[in-house]
Amino acid sequence: MIIEENKSLREYNTFGIDVQSKYFCIIEKIEDLREALEDFSNEKRLILGGGSNVLFTKNFDGLLLLNRIKGKKLLTEDDEHVYVQFGAGENWHNTVRHCIDNEWAGIENLSLIPGSCGAAPMQNIGAYGVEIKEVFHQLEAFHIESGEIHQFTIEDCAFAYRESVFKRKLSDQYFILNVTLRLNKKPLFNISYGAIQAQLESMGVNDLSIRAISEAVIAIRQRKLPDPNKIGNAGSFFKNPVISKSAFDQIKSRHSDIPHYPAPEGNIKLAAGWLIDQAGWKGKTFESFGVHKNQALVLVNYNNAKGSDIYSLSEEILNSIQEKFNISLEREVNIY
Ligand code: FAD
Ligand code: NAP
Repeated sequence: MIIEENKSLREYNTFGIDVQSKYFCIIEKIEDLREALEDFSNEKRLILGGGSNVLFTKNFDGLLLLNRIKGKKLLTEDDEHVYVQFGAGENWHNTVRHCIDNEWAGIENLSLIPGSCGAAPMQNIGAYGVEIKEVFHQLEAFHIESGEIHQFTIEDCAFAYRESVFKRKLSDQYFILNVTLRLNKKPLFNISYGAIQAQLESMGVNDLSIRAISEAVIAIRQRKLPDPNKIGNAGSFFKNPVISKSAFDQIKSRHSDIPHYPAPEGNIKLAAGWLIDQAGWKGKTFESFGVHKNQALVLVNYNNAKGSDIYSLSEEILNSIQEKFNISLEREVNIY
């Protein structure tokens, strides 16, 4: 295992922010992790997968552990399900493709989400009406303090909307090593998201399949979202706010066309992108960074922007949504 010093992280985060890490190493197996943690026990640590959900605002003064632990293993199966373990460093979209090739259903709606399998449970990734928690079986994670490997069931993970125990109570305590998914042998198609149905129709799909759904999702995403290989971004910068029915009624009396969706416990989910658009931010550009023209939820780095500038923009957006709608948006992207 090689430890590099003052390593540029530009190619390791999809925002393309050029900061440095004091120390940097690639973790391909658990022994690498043990060795790095032992040799640099006094340093701060940061785990990175695909770097598609982070914004670096300054150099990282510690040891960056880049997770590249690979592997795919069919553990067991029954009449209805297969249980497949994926190394945390496997690319998520390649994993989706692997499942589709094997006709294992359940994650086709999560096609083309960047990043690694290990980070997917961190925020219970979700798109087009599906979250990873619906197919999650268990994961194994390395407890950094004790060096023990612990198993987490779905209950242990405390999944919620873009949330898990690893972002909250156990934050910075575990390195996720692998994730086991329980995939369906017989597909349960989920095309209730308006855009999917329309896309399938425009593609002329008559026989619904998980491959067709994946292709529809990919087509919609490619049309709407900036490709991080061309324009730096980390997807949705903010979470969709969930508010009480009474707070919603007040906003609705002033904005009768506000998009809204039912959320657990009688609450209402709003589309953060719509709020940001209404506040006039969509497409705004400030020299090298801005708000994407097709999706106001996505902040972008056009050319060599500083993470701190993008962070300040996010602060301005938060303040303006607070002022206009009396809603506190929360950042989804992890700030370092
Ligand atoms: P990273 O950015 O590397 O890390 C994210 C966080 O997890 C960091 O805090 C990191 O320290 C921690 N972490 C990473 N790996 C591990 C590990 N093995 N163990 C412990 N901690 C770890 N997200 C969605 O939910 N739905 C979407 O539809 C979606 N679309 C996106 C579209 C685009 C264009 C982009 C750029 C991003 C999108 N995202 C979406 C956000 C992002 O891709 C996901 O959250 C993804 O799961 C992040 O994976 P990553 O490996 O890049 O994580
Ligand atoms: P969209 O389809 O334009 O919809 C806007 C918002 O309304 C979405 O955020 C979605 O919430 C909500 N929504 C739409 N239809 C819904 C329905 N039938 N039921 C419940 N909620 C509904 O959104 P988009 O920006 O193009 O994204 C499409 C999907 O990809 C969304 O699920 C989105 O979360 C996901 N995505 C996520 C990221 C990320 O970085 N996290 C980036 C890009 C896309 P939800 O977000 O709760 O689904």
